[in-house]
Amino acid sequence: MKRLIICLLLVIQFNAGKAQTNTNHPLNPDKPKLVVGVVVDQMRYDYLTRFWDKFGDDGFKRLIREGYNFKNNNYNYVPTYTAPGHTSIYTGTTPENHGIISNGWYDKFEKAEVYCTQDSDVSPVGTKSSAGKMSPHRMNATTVADENRLFTQFKGKTIGISLKDRGAILPAGHTANAAYWFNGYNEGNFISSSYYMDKLPDWVETFNKSEKVKSYLKSWNTLQDIETYTESGSDENAFEGGFSGKETATFPYDLKKLSSKNGDLDILKSTPYGNSILADFAIATLEGEDLGEDDYTDFFTVSFSSTDYIGHNFGVDSKEVEDAYIRLDVDLARLLKALDKKVGAGNYTLFLTADHGGGDVPSYLQSVRVPGGYFDELVFEKDLKEFLKDNYKNEDLIENVSNYQVFFNYKEVLKADIDFAELEKVIAHYALKYKQVNKVFTRTQLEGTNYTSGLASLVQNGFNQKRSGDVVLVLDPATITYSKTGSTHGSGYSYDTHAPLIFFGKGIPHGSTTKPNEAVDIAPTISSLLGIPMPNSATGKPLYEMLDSKKD
Ligand code: ZN
Ligand code: ZN
Ligand code: ZN
Repeated sequence: MKRLIICLLLVIQFNAGKAQTNTNHPLNPDKPKLVVGVVVDQMRYDYLTRFWDKFGDDGFKRLIREGYNFKNNNYNYVPTYTAPGHTSIYTGTTPENHGIISNGWYDKFEKAEVYCTQDSDVSPVGTKSSAGKMSPHRMNATTVADENRLFTQFKGKTIGISLKDRGAILPAGHTANAAYWFNGYNEGNFISSSYYMDKLPDWVETFNKSEKVKSYLKSWNTLQDIETYTESGSDENAFEGGFSGKETATFPYDLKKLSSKNGDLDILKSTPYGNSILADFAIATLEGEDLGEDDYTDFFTVSFSSTDYIGHNFGVDSKEVEDAYIRLDVDLARLLKALDKKVGAGNYTLFLTADHGGGDVPSYLQSVRVPGGYFDELVFEKDLKEFLKDNYKNEDLIENVSNYQVFFNYKEVLKADIDFAELEKVIAHYALKYKQVNKVFTRTQLEGTNYTSGLASLVQNGFNQKRSGDVVLVLDPATITYSKTGSTHGSGYSYDTHAPLIFFGKGIPHGSTTKPNEAVDIAPTISSLLGIPMPNSATGKPLYEMLDSKKD
């Protein structure tokens, strides 16, 4: 009898031990219910420090106060554009491997300019516009969200949202349950494509039918007293674009009045209200898609695009950009509050980063005696064709110049019996004569050398053997192909590569580091946190300083 009791006790103890092991997984005890990836389009790292005093307690400051701040997070490739940025964050690798070499590029096999997410094989959902004919089909790698779907036998969900199609589609990956993006103009709706669904779910229809979007067609004035916006240049200056129908780029902006001359509801994208609309939609998504409800980790990718449109229009030093970040801080606080309520504070892991930075307006820099300038790629293409005609008596040796790359017409070069490497060199030397061209790399160089540092390695990481051109130009710092007003990005210089990176929430200790890391480390870090495989082409590394340090 005594023996039987001992036996029974042992069985009970054994089972209790087993149950405990199941609920407290030793390999990933901190698995969140939801991973939220927030990308702020064109957010420079220094926006955090420059506008710090203007932020409230519950947005950026909360992330930094409770989370882990990587102060020296950089992109390790060129070009630093939106599509490669979003793709690199979530695939943990660079255009060399994931294939998204730009927002749009010349496809030498199709012999046509293609757009990263454009897909003629799918149909629009929620609109008749071709804005809905989009999918991730040109992305060659899996995203961390794909790996989570595969790992959980498709029980963990993925939803991607953004005003931009590429900001919604590429992060969410190939296996996403849904991606939704915004179609402005006279519609002002969130839409999708048949890649994901046949019709919009009821909750999206309801959101679209509400007058929410239209309600933002109001006056845009500064949120705080403009006199206190001492961190940016004067409201009226020569380096801003502005809206059609208004003489000066100055507050306040009557959006209702200006909308007819600025793409109707599309004008909202170039105001902070575009980010507010996305925050509204994000909060509706949490409810509508039941994210973070069960024990299988879900992914929610949220990309705020208006900061990019505003930077392009008004420049990184403008009052308009400052107001956009002060207002984004409020929207971010609102999103965090909704996540706390729906998923529970401490049950989700969030990271916030940017897809690239942005440069000062070169004409402004010139005015304060900092070197900078403009490069006209179309003029370069014309001149180059002239040069080749004079020297080779052939007008057809190159078929395209775009994204600072020269694409050869292979058939013509072969026919003319010209050595490819020699032609690359000749064009490289020709390009270096241009005042604004800093460096030139040829296909032969990039395929035969392993660059490990400097701009050369960034060019190599952005160079895709199949999709890239044959000669690659690197411009001088602060030199862009753009209008004389407003900012842009795309280079391998620090103003474009340095982006914020803050992790926050479940499994994330409080801390910060100035140790350099690369944006491609983000996805492997999330994989590591979840105990799931890394994206299939990942070249980044888990940020172990953070993962291995104890939560305080
Ligand atoms: Zn962008
Ligand atoms: Zn202004
Ligand atoms: Zn941009």
